[in-house]
Amino acid sequence: MCGIVGITSNKQVTSRIINSLKKLEYRGYDSAGIATLEEGIIKEVKCEGRVDILEKNISKININGEIGIGHVRWATHGKPSTLNAHPHSSEVVSVVHNGIIENSTILKKLLEKKGHQFKSQTDTEVIAHLVTDYLKKNNLKNTIVKVLKKLHGSFALGIIFKDQPDLIVGARRGSPLAVGYGPNENYLGSDSYALKSMTNKVSYLNDGEFCLIKKDNIDFFDTKGNKINKKILNLSKNDQSYDKGDYKHFMSKEIEEQPTTIKNCVNEYVDKVNQKINIYNFPWKINEIKSLVLVGCGTAYHSCMIAKYWFEKNSLLEVNVDIASEFRYRKLKFKKDCLYVFVSQSGETADTYAALDICKKNKMKICSIVNVVESSIARDSDFVLPIHCGPEIGVASTKAFLGQMLVLYMLCLKISFDQKIINKKVYVQKIKNLLLLSKLIKKTLLIDNKIQIISKTFANSRGSMFLGRGYSFPIALEGALKLKELAYMHAEGYPAGEMKHGPLALIEEGMPVVVIAPRDELYKKTVSNMQEVISRGAKVLLITNKSKDEIFSENIWETITVENVSNDLLPFLTTIPLQKLAYYSALEKGYDIDKPRNLAKSVTVE
Ligand code: GLU
Repeated sequence: MCGIVGITSNKQVTSRIINSLKKLEYRGYDSAGIATLEEGIIKEVKCEGRVDILEKNISKININGEIGIGHVRWATHGKPSTLNAHPHSSEVVSVVHNGIIENSTILKKLLEKKGHQFKSQTDTEVIAHLVTDYLKKNNLKNTIVKVLKKLHGSFALGIIFKDQPDLIVGARRGSPLAVGYGPNENYLGSDSYALKSMTNKVSYLNDGEFCLIKKDNIDFFDTKGNKINKKILNLSKNDQSYDKGDYKHFMSKEIEEQPTTIKNCVNEYVDKVNQKINIYNFPWKINEIKSLVLVGCGTAYHSCMIAKYWFEKNSLLEVNVDIASEFRYRKLKFKKDCLYVFVSQSGETADTYAALDICKKNKMKICSIVNVVESSIARDSDFVLPIHCGPEIGVASTKAFLGQMLVLYMLCLKISFDQKIINKKVYVQKIKNLLLLSKLIKKTLLIDNKIQIISKTFANSRGSMFLGRGYSFPIALEGALKLKELAYMHAEGYPAGEMKHGPLALIEEGMPVVVIAPRDELYKKTVSNMQEVISRGAKVLLITNKSKDEIFSENIWETITVENVSNDLLPFLTTIPLQKLAYYSALEKGYDIDKPRNLAKSVTVE
């Protein structure tokens, strides 16, 4: 996680580093810091907490310079504090780091024996001292090659040197790193988003590579220190989505944006004239794929779980779903006729990337579903299906979740038709339903007032449960995850039919329980499970869809009715009230909605 920015220029850099750090705060926000070099002296300012605090601190101190590095931290080693905030410096260098140095304890001991003194509890500080140590006997480039070889784990690094007036070293293994090109200045950033206000020309470092960035020149090297060439990419200039507009939070903006993002994504994949799903240049023939493995983390994992129901119902494929952090450590039987699909909003999720890498090394077919098409996961896939939902800044994912489900659903429809499981008539009907989805989401978003009142009960409860069957089960998991992430409440998602096998013991008088029971083939079964929790004192919030049939259950505390839609598409609508429930519960508690505690957006550590 964490954000890194570096600028080497012939103009002052402090305020621009601060501005870029503000954009990077979604990656980590427990502490922040900056180091600049002026007349051979490295100056540092650091603080616990957000970049605004750093900015205030800086206004009281003179910290100038035409070269500098900045960092927003998501602590892995040592608590969030001013002392542990980055940059970490020795007498000759200053370092910012994203990731984890797994052998830091051993390295620290060795360096202490040589007389190095450590100030922080971080793993990062060893890098500053290791560089310092190697510099005594090596030139700068060889020092970097040797230091990177010594480090185990994952990292993206930015380093400045006391005796190098315009040099920033960037290096990466595992964690992403971008380099930007400007007029008489160049940049380093943990993503291109951080650099967008300064340039639209970037290059990305691949694993193991490092670079020497000077204000008028950048050199790239491979792991061994051999010079390599890099492509310069042009980024799109559209920066609109990075603005909250009139919304109080990015999250509420992103929830309300969903009709548009869904419409855009449908337009990207649906050929309205020929009434088919277009997936151009799909590199495999349909009979080459006999099974699917869908891999993701957190919300992305939930989208994979829902897709399993769709694929099983509508295709001949055998489908398995895996949590990336588990997948990567299992003894897997790789199959040539399996398509491995990796789902990640940022395309930088470390666990998902590592899972992809294993498949790549085993020469498997790799497809990814991402929001950020310049990301590592996208770059290393055989085929990419973008979700086209624009930047998602709120740490708790909303519109990206719907986007991931949508792309998985469209992939399923295409495969279903190509495998002749559905005929042309059904295919066309399903596409027509898809074209209506955006409008139905828009109507469903109008439940706002009611959900706001309901969320007060949730915010004041000790915990809650979310129940569903079939594809409403992953939706229940997602609803519970949102409430945990934002309102810091214990919330458990469970298959409704499993309650009687244990968790029913948790139900006590007045406990809020969300039951997701749309009018699908499992409706009656879920309603029976709902009755079981009501009988034991639960306050049930029923999420269902409009129907002419009555709800045959008594004593339901509240009901939220989403629009009517074909069964396949119900998860898109039943998700909406759950997003709002989490949002308003957190608002009620006064929590930081866009930056929930202990979390970060782009999870680039293992
Ligand atoms: N492991 C480092 C630390 O705890 C870097 C964490 C980060 O990526 O922000 O300071």
